[in-house]
Amino acid sequence: MIHYPVTEPDLDGNDREHLLAAFDSGWISSQGPYLAQFEADFARFTGTAHALAACNGTMALHLALLALGVRPGDEVIVPTFTYVATANAVHYCGATPVLVDCESDTWNMDPEAVASAITPRTVGILPVHLYGLPCDMRALTSLAAKHKLWIVEDAAEAHGATVDKQRVGSFGAVACFSLYGNKIITTGEGGVLTTDDHELARKIALFRGQGMDPERRYWFPTVGWNYRMTNLAAALGVAQLQKIERLIAAHKRVASWYRTYLAGQDAFAWQTERHGIESVHWLASVRWLAAEHRPELRDALMSRLASDGIDTRPFFYPMHSMPPYASKARFPVADRVASSGLNLPSSPRLEESDVQHIASRLTYHARELAAGALFGSRPARARTQNGVATT
Ligand SMILES: *Cc1c(COP(=O)(O)O)cnc(C)c1O
Repeated sequence: MIHYPVTEPDLDGNDREHLLAAFDSGWISSQGPYLAQFEADFARFTGTAHALAACNGTMALHLALLALGVRPGDEVIVPTFTYVATANAVHYCGATPVLVDCESDTWNMDPEAVASAITPRTVGILPVHLYGLPCDMRALTSLAAKHKLWIVEDAAEAHGATVDKQRVGSFGAVACFSLYGNKIITTGEGGVLTTDDHELARKIALFRGQGMDPERRYWFPTVGWNYRMTNLAAALGVAQLQKIERLIAAHKRVASWYRTYLAGQDAFAWQTERHGIESVHWLASVRWLAAEHRPELRDALMSRLASDGIDTRPFFYPMHSMPPYASKARFPVADRVASSGLNLPSSPRLEESDVQHIASRLTYHARELAAGALFGSRPARARTQNGVATT
């Protein structure tokens, strides 16, 4: 039986060659020529003045908030439907992540909910381009300007996605990308921050490198962190960026095949790409509407697909449903979306016939389970899905 993972890194290009060149050069730590090259290449890719490499996407978010001066007592607005790192980064600064609901068609942060969440303590907005689909940056940037708030984009899942042809990473004061093994491109573990603001770039570099004065060795004018990337990771990053356009095209192709082979089935719903907004379809993500408020049904579907060799992931649990960020406020859209969603195999290696096969198994199991649910039989308890990746 063929096994279809949800994601797999593409290490086929110049990755090995660059990695070994970095190794052989002896520059294996956080100095070396690949770091500067990777940062220059990434800045060119996003169209920003600066790109700064970091040890992972979560610490990139922390650095962005540190550079913007986020402190205890501050509030930062984040979507409840996201990966936990977004909220954690705010928490690391001693500030409060204020959760907002998502839109039912895009599953992204709802700008109207953001507007209602603004208080005198709000300092910024942290939108997440979920599963590769950019947020409504037109609405969010005008809201931020009106209230004098900054925006940090969590673009961890959306390298290359665009709003009106402009790439994400260039809308916020700062944007953060992840280079974890399952993301659009990877350095094993890694992250990047992008910004057009020279002063923010200077602060990010300062905090990333223990706070050491760039002009005076071992002189620390401020407390910093060690959030640096290694030259080894940057060597992989350089190779990955050389093929990023091909990888993005492959992700888009896979998503369009799923839409083709599941077309006309109103049992499923996709993330809507509104006019001018282009997703990179990091993960092919579908909602099975029968499972709204019935995650056990969705889990049963995942378990049946797993026995066909088809790996899937449940959508993220909304932040408000977990202990660290438990909230009495209601987030009805996020609850509905999260309980019914699953990420399908999304590897850029998939071929059309693979997607056709997966779509037909998905349709078959969903029909059977929905019929069973209709007649009151309980779906078998799902097995836990323990993939390699944490995301
Ligand atoms: C992956 C991810 C992160 C964290 O990135 P790491 O590199 O794993 O630390 C942050 N936010 C979102 C939305 C992510 O998907």
